[in-house]
Amino acid sequence: MKKHHITGVLALLAAVAISAYANDIFMLERELEPLYPSQYLSEVKMLSDYLPTLKDTPGDTEIYIYRGEKTGGSCLVLGATHANEIGGYMGAVVLMENAKATQGTLYIIPRANRSGLTSTDPGDAAPSRIHVSTPSGVRWFKYGSRATNPMDQWPDPDVYIHASSRQNLSGSEVRNLNRAYPGRPDGNFTERVAYAIAELIRQERIDMTIDLHEASPEYPNNNSTVAHENAMQIAALGMINMQMQGIDIKLEPSPANLHGLSHRELGDYTNTFALLMETPNAAQGRTRGATNERLAVTGQDKCYEILVKYDLLYVPYDENGHPLEERVGRHVQGVREYVAAMSQFYPEKTVVIENIPTYDDFMNGALGDYLH
Ligand SMILES: [Zn+2]
Repeated sequence: MKKHHITGVLALLAAVAISAYANDIFMLERELEPLYPSQYLSEVKMLSDYLPTLKDTPGDTEIYIYRGEKTGGSCLVLGATHANEIGGYMGAVVLMENAKATQGTLYIIPRANRSGLTSTDPGDAAPSRIHVSTPSGVRWFKYGSRATNPMDQWPDPDVYIHASSRQNLSGSEVRNLNRAYPGRPDGNFTERVAYAIAELIRQERIDMTIDLHEASPEYPNNNSTVAHENAMQIAALGMINMQMQGIDIKLEPSPANLHGLSHRELGDYTNTFALLMETPNAAQGRTRGATNERLAVTGQDKCYEILVKYDLLYVPYDENGHPLEERVGRHVQGVREYVAAMSQFYPEKTVVIENIPTYDDFMNGALGDYLH
């Protein structure tokens, strides 16, 4: 065998080995972690039950349903609409692993954009997993992307035209679930996921929908709840009750001209009271330092300690950062308070959820204490 043949064979073998390794990493990213619903779970449905064309696609996702013995209203909680907003995702996971409904019905979709959990945002250096110590050992959870995985929807147009409003957005927003509502049954992948969620709300007559999100500390709308005008009374009472417990939270009206968002379109196109909560995730910021799992979990970052001195952040900030306990605690407490507020204004829509940790439980403990 001539020397250049040997070099050729070696180069080919190296290429095959690198491809096999890359394939392993790629397939690993598509894998999702097991979740353990509480013993009080009544039923699991799939999003494809509300739009059959989603069946066997990466957009199909579990709907965990908890029914109380007493009849009442209903509430839907969405996690991982934006799968890089880990506080919102973990808030929904804590709820589904603990909740017991004693009156009314609680619906939880922890992986609203399931596809978004299977990739990370390009160029963001974000971790693809976080690890949490729990009573059953160390568990991992996905840290995904703001958008649908391009493997599931591609290519992006230059301009994304929102179907029902004709609003123009940059092309990559076509894969953003929270710009796709109310969705279309025959639309693109992300629009079909949005439509199925809206259809679930319509068919099950869900009284309130709470979408759990995070935003960077530089983003003005943070430590806040955004409410559709129909849900303003409920949001205001819930917010006052949280303020009285020492949780500083703002209330923002859903802008009438900002289309595709859950708090706008679900309020307009269904009869649900639509709310969206935001907590600060330092790993999403543009002026953050090194991005890694520790930043996503603790929210501690030296760059933000400097920025806050120049009044450039929209949340309080010190060396303690904004750990997941605080962020998940806000989401879980928010769900509790908004459900209670709805029950107070509309007794026939009462929902009572028990066995979920309080904000103080999180602040005095660890996230893993409230996971399986
Ligand atoms: Zn978000």
